[in-house]
Amino acid sequence: MSDCLFCKIIAGEIPADIVYQDDTALAFKDINPQAPVHFLVIPKKHIATLADAEDDDELLLGHLLRVVTKLAEKEGYTEPGFRTVVNTNAGAGQTVFHIHVHLLAGRPFQWPPG
Ligand code: 5GP
Ligand code: ZN
Repeated sequence: MSDCLFCKIIAGEIPADIVYQDDTALAFKDINPQAPVHFLVIPKKHIATLADAEDDDELLLGHLLRVVTKLAEKEGYTEPGFRTVVNTNAGAGQTVFHIHVHLLAGRPFQWPPG
């Protein structure tokens, strides 16, 4: 998608602080971090929202969670814990319409989230 911010990051057209990538996923630091660790893990395939994903995307979606988990482990946040968030559509707070899993860690988290 030529007008998608995260597709531009994948293409290297917009700079990002990349912390991990493989054939199908990319992870980079959020530009406006909400915790000491705040990464975004995205599929290299453009899918606008979780609601747009299809059955064929099941492995890819699972892979994003494995990447999140390994990054949290690498950063040393398996304990005490880390927060993962996927906002789906504007009413839930989604502002960039390319699926991304937020990985937040390094501070206490409350429940329910705001
Ligand atoms: P959402 O609100 O869609 O769940 O999350 C979008 C996230 O993307 C926000 O946390 C926001 O700070 C981050 N973001 C927006 N623009 C950029 C950018 O150009 N670079 C990076 N690294 N993060 C961005
Ligand atoms: Zn995109």
